[in-house]
Amino acid sequence: MNFNTGHAGKYHLLTYGCQMNVRDSEIIAGILDGMGYILTPTLKEADLVVFNTCSVRHSAENKVYGKLGEVTLLKRDNPDMLIAVGGCMAQLANVRARLKKQKVDIVFGTNNLHELPHLINQAKNIPGPVVQVYDREGDIVEHLPSRRDSNLSAFVNIMYGCNNFCSYCIVPFTRGRERSRMPADIITEIRNLAEQGFKEVTLLGQNVNSYGRGLQKPADFADLLNLVNEIEGIERIRFTTSHPRDMTDKLIDAIAVQPKVCEHIHVAMQSGSNHILKRMNRGYTREHYLERTQRIREMISGAAITTDIIVGFPGESESDFQDTMDMVNKIRFDAAFTFMYSVRTGTTAATMDDQVPLDIRRERLISLNKLQYSIAREINKSLEGTIQEVLVEGLSKTDKDKLTSRTRTNRIVIFSGPRDLIGRLISVKITEAKTFSLFGEIM
Ligand code: SAM
Ligand code: SF4
Repeated sequence: MNFNTGHAGKYHLLTYGCQMNVRDSEIIAGILDGMGYILTPTLKEADLVVFNTCSVRHSAENKVYGKLGEVTLLKRDNPDMLIAVGGCMAQLANVRARLKKQKVDIVFGTNNLHELPHLINQAKNIPGPVVQVYDREGDIVEHLPSRRDSNLSAFVNIMYGCNNFCSYCIVPFTRGRERSRMPADIITEIRNLAEQGFKEVTLLGQNVNSYGRGLQKPADFADLLNLVNEIEGIERIRFTTSHPRDMTDKLIDAIAVQPKVCEHIHVAMQSGSNHILKRMNRGYTREHYLERTQRIREMISGAAITTDIIVGFPGESESDFQDTMDMVNKIRFDAAFTFMYSVRTGTTAATMDDQVPLDIRRERLISLNKLQYSIAREINKSLEGTIQEVLVEGLSKTDKDKLTSRTRTNRIVIFSGPRDLIGRLISVKITEAKTFSLFGEIM
């Protein structure tokens, strides 16, 4: 699609939330570049400020409101500045009502990215907010432009939306029903990336394990991994997120067999208590989760298993929480994203009357993190002295004299070496391990 309307001004893009949003922001940036806008890292310079928002937890929404306050103050000195708010918050009617009061010029939904040029032109010409949010997901729009910051590693959507309706989660309301891209469209996109020199792709979906449901020509995620593995130039394939309920043997085998598919599986557990898993509507038991993770470890040598865990879900007793701690001890996750339950209006869990007090949720999060960090540190320590294949990603953020790289199991390794290693797969020896990163030297 060609959106070019000549030089249009400068834009500043703020992205909150998950990889899906990062990917959407790449498309938003591609569309704005195509319109002739120029990206500025300086908020004050911007003629157009775009917020790509997240509503998965209360804290994510609060961050947006805080920043929005700052930007609306800037608009007082620069009344021609346009403020656009998109992403998951824009999908929610109660949030939209608040945004309209906050002098926002454009509100656009998660399925309306391709309409941005039209919305921006409208906002320039008419007073009051321009709002375009589809209540229901439309068809998948292919061939949108993108601006990817990296030229090495790319996010690729394989599906959109979610049908799972976990009782705490707002995503099915903000992202609509699950729909998969056609394998041919995904393969073409990845082939193009390989031609541009990209070495790694991360396939994105809320539940990649259910990829392909509803496609005219049947295909599942294992089939897709097999196809992507064939693409010349791509050296590493990652994916996120896997739902434990849909983790089939066929998929575990494909990950085990295909050489480019990295041995890292992010499989969200959420809770270790059967009582809570049921109330969360997750569709599996702790026994199922244990069995699937054991199978992964048996079939995929050296696999890293990471997870998401929520503490303080409504009705979670001390004994339910101890079940979660027990699972963490048994499975020994390589890493975990841990969250305090956050009430989301419109979800089933928000109406449950046995909400856990904030101080208890906080205490449980602290105990869980303490346990998980000690496990992660122990696992990392066991890697000292080993040799790891890493993809060199760039300069270390904390020490510009060093390089940062990633193992196949998604661990960061910092080491000294010449800049021309960036973009290459090399072997490093791990010399020191910390909780969140490793240090090494070139072999
Ligand atoms: N689709 C992914 C899955 O099921 O694995 C998760 C996507 S969601 C954006 C990321 C994580 O946010 C979830 O796995 C869950 O742990 C957490 N989350 C979602 N809703 C939450 C809520 N209301 N309170 C706290 N954490 C929440
Ligand atoms: Fe939310 Fe559950 Fe869907 Fe993940 S699978 S996005 S947690 S509803």
